[in-house]
Amino acid sequence: MPGDYDIEYASPWAGANYLPVGKPGTASEGYERNTWPELARLASELPETGIHFQDTVIYRRAKDVGTATGAWFAELLREDAWFKDVVPNFRVLPKSELPAGVDGGTAFTSVCINTALYLPWLASQCLKLGVVIKRGIASHIADAADMHHSGKRADLVVNCTGLSSLKLGGVEDSNVYPARGQTVLVRNDPHVMATVSGTDDASDEATYIMQRAAGGGCVLGGCLQKDNWESQPDPNLAIRIMKRCIELCPKLIPEGKGIEALDIVRHGVGLRPMRTGGIRIEREVIAGPNGEQVNVIHDYGHGGYGYQTSYGASQAVQALVDETLRPKARL
Ligand SMILES: Cc1cc2nc3c(=O)[nH]c(=O)nc-3n(C[C@H](O)[C@H](O)[C@H](O)COP(=O)(O)OP(=O)(O)OC[C@H]3O[C@@H](n4cnc5c(N)ncnc54)[C@H](O)[C@@H]3O)c2cc1C
Repeated sequence: MPGDYDIEYASPWAGANYLPVGKPGTASEGYERNTWPELARLASELPETGIHFQDTVIYRRAKDVGTATGAWFAELLREDAWFKDVVPNFRVLPKSELPAGVDGGTAFTSVCINTALYLPWLASQCLKLGVVIKRGIASHIADAADMHHSGKRADLVVNCTGLSSLKLGGVEDSNVYPARGQTVLVRNDPHVMATVSGTDDASDEATYIMQRAAGGGCVLGGCLQKDNWESQPDPNLAIRIMKRCIELCPKLIPEGKGIEALDIVRHGVGLRPMRTGGIRIEREVIAGPNGEQVNVIHDYGHGGYGYQTSYGASQAVQALVDETLRPKARL
């Protein structure tokens, strides 16, 4: 639940920002495209969501092509990116604005979400609409249908169990795997959101900086460690992250200082719920352990892009929900 910080729950650990990575023509691209307008509306009109606009720069190093992080950011790094007409102020950086060792780059206006404010705000919106929120653990997806507060069996279950869809009974999707992300949350202000395509330390390490809205601190990252389930921060990696972020954005600390000038709030580890084949939004009728048939709509596998695909994905889920329940009454 919002407020919890544990390794089974990826959402609080995200930065989170909007840096599109979906390949053109894929469902993910559509979800990202359809999500931007709502994130922009929340940032413009509802400060209580903890979302603000952030100028962002994306740096590309030629040597990162083909590395784990280079592949992750492949679409993001393009000068003719599909999202250049979606986000405001997209431009290609001239050579004069590129730091040493960087071969190209783009800049645009994105958003950064303070997840510590945004997740409780989402829960509050549900409560306002009459949703009954309960804690519980389902060992089989069909169990969820019996958890409805009315005491009756639910007509429909929406499966948003993230990484747990790998092991959850009735789902057990072997395409799901973790990509570990480690971050350092600091009080320092970088004055810009910045990302670079790779590092010289390891091909699955990355460098990114984002300032959260409303005093949420600044997130320094990171890495994309495939199939790594380790929940505890690696202190050596933390030092590499802090050093690299200062190199990327010297304004983080007073001139002449080192990582000791970073004012640390917390070290964090989150597991991105990745899925080979991408996000799964699909209807399935699943037989429970006692043979009962349960309507399930899956919505998992959001990897490192769960916020930036959220509203587009939800629209796709809603269409399936409407299709499934019509003409039956909704619970
Ligand atoms: C370090 C890091 C940085 C990231 N940065 C960004 C970013 O900048 N932008 C972006 O868009 N995305 C980012 N992401 C990705 C984003 O956080 C995820 O894609 C998103 O949070 C996934 O949300 P989810 O609801 O699918 O999964 P989760 O948040 O993991 O939620 C799954 C929920 O299901 C519950 N659950 C699981 N199994 C069961 C069960 N059997 N019974 C009951 N409940 C169950 C869990 O308790 C949990 O509450 C980042 C992720 C990480 C780790």
